[in-house]
Amino acid sequence: MSKHQFQTEVSQLLNLIVHSLYSHKEIFLRELVSNASDALDKLNYLTMTDDAFRDFDIDPRVDIEFSEGDEKSLTVTDTGIGMNQDDLVENLGTIAKSGTKGFLSQLTGDAKKDSNLIGQFGVGFYSVFMVASKVEVTSRKAGEEKAYTWTSTGEGEFEITESELDSNGTRIVLHLNDEGKEYASRWQIQDIVKKYSDHIAFPIYLRYTQKQYDDKGKETGAEEKLEQINAASALWKQSKSDLSDDVYKNFYKTISHDSDDPLFWLHTKAEGTLEYSTLFYVPATAPFDMYQVDYRPGVKLYVQRVFITDDEKELMPTYLRFLRGVIDSEDLPLNVSREILQQNRVMTSIKSASVKKVLGELQRIALNDKELYTTFIEQYNRPLKEGLYQDFANREQLMELVRFKSSREEGFTSLEEYTQRMVADQKAIYYVTGGDEQTLRNSPLLEAYAKKEIEVLIMDDEFDEIVVPSLGKYKEFDLKPVNRADAGDDIKDKTDKKKEKALKPVLETIKKALGDRVKDVRASVRLTDSPSCVVVDDADPTMQMQQILRSMGQAEMPEVKPILEINPDHEIVQKLGETSDDALAEDVAFLLYDQALLVEGVQVKEPADFVKRLNRVLGRAV
Ligand code: ADP
Ligand code: MG
Repeated sequence: MSKHQFQTEVSQLLNLIVHSLYSHKEIFLRELVSNASDALDKLNYLTMTDDAFRDFDIDPRVDIEFSEGDEKSLTVTDTGIGMNQDDLVENLGTIAKSGTKGFLSQLTGDAKKDSNLIGQFGVGFYSVFMVASKVEVTSRKAGEEKAYTWTSTGEGEFEITESELDSNGTRIVLHLNDEGKEYASRWQIQDIVKKYSDHIAFPIYLRYTQKQYDDKGKETGAEEKLEQINAASALWKQSKSDLSDDVYKNFYKTISHDSDDPLFWLHTKAEGTLEYSTLFYVPATAPFDMYQVDYRPGVKLYVQRVFITDDEKELMPTYLRFLRGVIDSEDLPLNVSREILQQNRVMTSIKSASVKKVLGELQRIALNDKELYTTFIEQYNRPLKEGLYQDFANREQLMELVRFKSSREEGFTSLEEYTQRMVADQKAIYYVTGGDEQTLRNSPLLEAYAKKEIEVLIMDDEFDEIVVPSLGKYKEFDLKPVNRADAGDDIKDKTDKKKEKALKPVLETIKKALGDRVKDVRASVRLTDSPSCVVVDDADPTMQMQQILRSMGQAEMPEVKPILEINPDHEIVQKLGETSDDALAEDVAFLLYDQALLVEGVQVKEPADFVKRLNRVLGRAV
């Protein structure tokens, strides 16, 4: 016998599970059955791919029994791959997955949300301690002789002893506590299994005793019964018309461990050169690990109804990693390996057809059910934007699907809707980047556009800065950041030409002072309160973009010089035109440039020089 301590994170988690999840305690059975099913899948796969197991005898099944006496208990047995001593310690004593701390910090104390997270995170087994005061897991690994029993009360430690089991597999005995005693019941077990595990691919049997009575209602004996309590049918192979919404939703809960209903689903069957079925779900809330590098993929691959893998990120493109569901192919070989999978022509075709189907369905929803689409966008706008640069083949469609905030109204708008609202002769689609929503909405750069009633897209997601410039155009319209030189085209008016002429001498003065620090110095049409701003030339990356690129390690990037724009109406600028003090004019020229950089959140090149000039000018003013 050996004693072991739970890893700290496990203890923490056990505490949380037991104290915050008891309103959802029935999920323990779903988790046990899903583990049994995983174990059967693994053994099945082994017999197909590993020569040592080719002739291994398998009888895949799950058995549930219960005892109703004083000591109530519930037992779940499977004939799957089993665990040896090391596996027991590793799998039922630690949380192997990285990101555990991150996960724990995401817990909210809200039982419903947390139970969801816990299922998604895959710490399912530990949920047994919601209903059991003691748990015994006896297991024998396929191909090995010895069996071991893992025992714990869920309080900091567990024990492992040598034990016996007739064949490979795992038997889990729960000694039910007060919270759990209601589950030692035929009806409860049947209900829960029907609800969550009906379409598990293997038969689940329930063993129970049925009492017999005579005419007068007197008990005459008891009969042992064994009954299959799940359909064990691959739901995705059935025809849509035979499946109710509830059946779809419950199946979703089985495969996703999510206790909320999905937002929507898409079930398709392809028959033709390739034969396959797919069933994809979109979770109502984005998976907690969506932005983690080691996220768990949510799509399972089956070949002719036999489970192959649920750990293959390449089944769908990464930007659709929030999808949950099943792909089942009739054409892939049963012993398909990961390496083969990635370059397999059948798989590639299924993948690209599936992406098209999913995007098509999103488009359909966007057109027909705005409310649902908005809910979708609130969760998944960002991954769709990733698609804009990952998935060139579907870029046009993705451009119709992504949404942006806008200066015109609250909420989200599509590029299509924007172009429909464009003013007469508007030449481009304008957007502003580089700050949070509030800052951007109040940016002085937008004032001139507002005056002309030209809508500007508010891109407050740092990610937009990377994606949008790479798009270039939507239909025939250029996408232009308002801090770009030629974005002034649409807001110029006739008086601007005159002002520009009058400003010429001042522009010359500034140009002379700054030399080759700037690409050009020009009269601005977009400023109201500020005396100056920097913009970038048509083809150059914006200042913010340059900073992002530098922070991403592209230090070697050639320096791109900005264009300095001067506000002809500003007091400082007008006084600059009148002064004959050359030294002062030079100081002011530099200060106009440096402050324009500072407001954009860009560092000034020579801070010491900046302070010197600032103090000189202040000295004269006070
Ligand atoms: P998950 O199923 O998400 O991995 P669980 O907490 O449900 O997380 O299970 C932890 C691990 O314990 C599983 O990954 C598996 O390796 C092992 N395990 C649990 N139940 C069984 C079982 N019935 N047969 C074999 N291995 C099991
Ligand atoms: Mg599990």
